[in-house]
Amino acid sequence: MIVTLFTGCGSKETTTTNGTGEKVSDTGKTIKVGISLPTQREERWVRDKEKMEEVAKEAGIELIVKVADANMQEQISQVESLLTQGIDVLILAPHDASAAATLVEKATNEGVPVISYDRLITNTEKLGYYLSFDNVKVGELQGKYITEKVPEGKYIIMSGAPTDNNAKLFKEGAMKYIQPLIDAGKIQVIAEQAVENWVPENALKIVEAALAANNNQVDAILAPNDGTAGAAIQALAAQGLAGSVPITGQDAEKAAAKRIMEGTQSMTIFKDTRELGKKAIEMAIQLANGQKVETNGEVDNGKINVPSVLLEPQVVTKDNLVKVLVESGYISENDLK
Ligand code: BGC
Repeated sequence: MIVTLFTGCGSKETTTTNGTGEKVSDTGKTIKVGISLPTQREERWVRDKEKMEEVAKEAGIELIVKVADANMQEQISQVESLLTQGIDVLILAPHDASAAATLVEKATNEGVPVISYDRLITNTEKLGYYLSFDNVKVGELQGKYITEKVPEGKYIIMSGAPTDNNAKLFKEGAMKYIQPLIDAGKIQVIAEQAVENWVPENALKIVEAALAANNNQVDAILAPNDGTAGAAIQALAAQGLAGSVPITGQDAEKAAAKRIMEGTQSMTIFKDTRELGKKAIEMAIQLANGQKVETNGEVDNGKINVPSVLLEPQVVTKDNLVKVLVESGYISENDLK
């Protein structure tokens, strides 16, 4: 049974139960998991939510999902509300990495363990687990790709929302490849800016301004995700340049896959949100049952090394897109038309 309740401000609450009252916890109680997601603006977050709902339903646990529309105040009140509903575990993907620390303290003080989902919650000692992809690697894959394609020339370098710790990690990874070429005088950076809130419109403005200021002379664009890449490509297209300037992306969105096949976007990074969503529910059930969760790394959140489960990201280009995205069922052949 899936019930969707609207809680205002474009946010949504969804409750999933198995409908039979089946008890799955060791203590004989139906496990109740609270999920707080930052947004549904990018396609990937819609997929994360759907996957977690599907897996929770199969496992017969109760799920309460809340979505803050990229608004930290909204996320704070949504998590506070989740904590009043007797959840056993909180899966939290923060809109603002450090502002979410107080939510972790609040939850753990009430005996509710927290899994930081996809985005790391910083500045708290109380965080139990981090479940994500290797985000420095995501940036490395972008940086390696673009510098191999364009080892010298004029670069526009964009990074994601400054409130999102992932944005820092993506950039850190990419600069491992780009910085040495800047230092060697081969790459010239004509614009370097963060995209506030990951909003594509902001990326559009950055690229439009850089093109105008440089007489359209740009050789490569580091775009942190597919949403910002799409906007950058729109700015290029307006100058008749779409397809002639290599540009990165991330998320394997359907629109990006189409652009890659058409040749206007060079690559994307595939992070299989089906795996991430499934893992999150499995970890939540283990925690609710007081079991140990197996991790494969640690990530420093400014206070502690958080035990982490990090999945592998993968580069997708025109050459492997059908194999990686279509054959795995992540997107369909039709999505490319
Ligand atoms: C996620 C990306 C996403 C971005 C914007 C990041 O934290 O890891 O997959 O594109 O947020 O939502």
